[in-house]
Amino acid sequence: MKDIGKTKQSQYNVMFFTLKLLALFFCAAPLFQYFFKDTVSRSALEHANFMVLLISISIFTIITFIWLIMDRNRKKIKFAVFAEIALFFAVCIASIMFSGAHESYYKFLFIFIVISYTVELGMKIGVIVASLASVFILGLDLFMDNSGGVNTQFQTDIALCSMFVVIAWILGSYVKIANEHIAQLTGYANLDGLTNIYNHRYFQDSLRNKCDESLKNNKPLSLLMLDIDYFKTYNDIYGHQKGDLVLKQLAELLGKNTRSEDILCRYGGEEFALILDNTEKNKAIEIGETIRKSVEEYAFEGQELLPAGSVTVSVGVAGFNGEGDNPVELVNRADSALYRAKFFRRNRVEQYVSVFDNVSHLDSRLTSLKSLINVIHSRDSYTYNHVERVVWYCQLYADYMKLSEEEKTKLVYSAYLHDLGKINVAKNILISTSKLTDEEWIEMKRHPVDSAEMIRRVEGLEDMVDIVLHHHEKYDGRGYPDGISGEQINPLARVLTVADSFDAMTSNRPYQTTKTYTDAFAEIRRCKGTQFDPIIAENFIAAIGESL
Ligand code: GH3
Ligand code: MG
Ligand code: MG
Repeated sequence: MKDIGKTKQSQYNVMFFTLKLLALFFCAAPLFQYFFKDTVSRSALEHANFMVLLISISIFTIITFIWLIMDRNRKKIKFAVFAEIALFFAVCIASIMFSGAHESYYKFLFIFIVISYTVELGMKIGVIVASLASVFILGLDLFMDNSGGVNTQFQTDIALCSMFVVIAWILGSYVKIANEHIAQLTGYANLDGLTNIYNHRYFQDSLRNKCDESLKNNKPLSLLMLDIDYFKTYNDIYGHQKGDLVLKQLAELLGKNTRSEDILCRYGGEEFALILDNTEKNKAIEIGETIRKSVEEYAFEGQELLPAGSVTVSVGVAGFNGEGDNPVELVNRADSALYRAKFFRRNRVEQYVSVFDNVSHLDSRLTSLKSLINVIHSRDSYTYNHVERVVWYCQLYADYMKLSEEEKTKLVYSAYLHDLGKINVAKNILISTSKLTDEEWIEMKRHPVDSAEMIRRVEGLEDMVDIVLHHHEKYDGRGYPDGISGEQINPLARVLTVADSFDAMTSNRPYQTTKTYTDAFAEIRRCKGTQFDPIIAENFIAAIGESL
């Protein structure tokens, strides 16, 4: 709808422009008539014609050029607009004076100014312009007419001047109504019907603008993503209408806990987003915490039947990183933080932590590692998010098992790199929602070998090659690519297999429905000894279970 406003404005601009050019053209006619009326000889007339043409073209070009430059900044330069009106008045007055003053046929020229500025600046200015023109014309009739008879000019010009004022009045009112209508439609298009806060579309537009501003002015920008916990359960118990009421009340509550400059939006379903302009991440976390508490303390109807005994929200916080960052990445990071908040028992605020932040102190191999990871990231954020979670599960496992720093690094780095080979898999296979065909499976199954090949040549990553290569091997030997089994498989590869499969079970994959953590643990237990190393599987469940 904003676009409609913009299109209308550019249509208006074309109109103003044409009107002004026409006004200028008609004003020029009486002036030239006056200046060349005594030119009698043919050669002098030809010379005069040539001069007229040259002067007209030059004046037109200069004025058009000035208008084009001014047009973009018209709203800002009020002075220039008023100077332009004064200039037009001067040109009109000159044309009238040179073409017979009170007897001139060119008094109608003022109509161009009245119409242009009524449409552009509204009824008030339009009526003022019309009145000034009328005062000039009628004054001219009264003071210049010395014939002593009936002042016929005055009589006819009263009608002309009334027309100026009436046009300014009617056109001004019409433009006002049209502008109000556009503003109303723009409002409807940007608001969410249920909660009356901004909608997804407005969120996307604003975030893009705020990111641009943040880059330009070098100011901080933070984003909060909120998701109601166990809302499906609430709907299942009380129905969608009661659920809708909670959404409305929650939106009101969020509104009360935000500053006037914050942009609160319904991102979708039961997810909300809050754009915090000029706000550092730490302040954003504070705001997130205030919101979380106020939601927890608010008495929503029937909340006692929810698992936590209360309606709560989980909040993910991420900050804009300036140059090289973009709105899509920012939303991704806030989403990833929200995922962590959900993971750690919900009703919680989590900030985005790059998995790189935790290992960057380890060694200089990070540089080559990072560029390889960026390849995945730039191509497919689904795989990247999966990789981030697998790394995180591996870190939880390594900490729980108290692995040495060296072992932990090997495991975590391998987790980073395990899906690099998916770069060679066609995107339609990666995101396919139907069962893969035999050929597609062959292509998909190549990725451990490809990942291993890609890192084999990077100095310092030799120890990870084996782990990455074998992360799809199965404990009973039915995996790929080598079909090795049990102790033959690198122990850290066996950990990676469990972490990888756990994420596949619990995240939203295009080709399968999500399992709860409990269901995923049960599935891992079911596959102990066949797919997974039994001891590692139990340790993994214990490590993750401890954080839940
Ligand atoms: P989690 O704590 O993991 O967020 O659990 P959840 O039950 O909230 O899970 P999820 O976020 O996946 O569920 C979203 C639910 O929100 C599904 C649907 O029942 C509900 N929902 C989405 N949009 C609306 C809406 O406009 N009105 C109502 N009443 N419910 C909605
Ligand atoms: Mg949700
Ligand atoms: Mg939810």
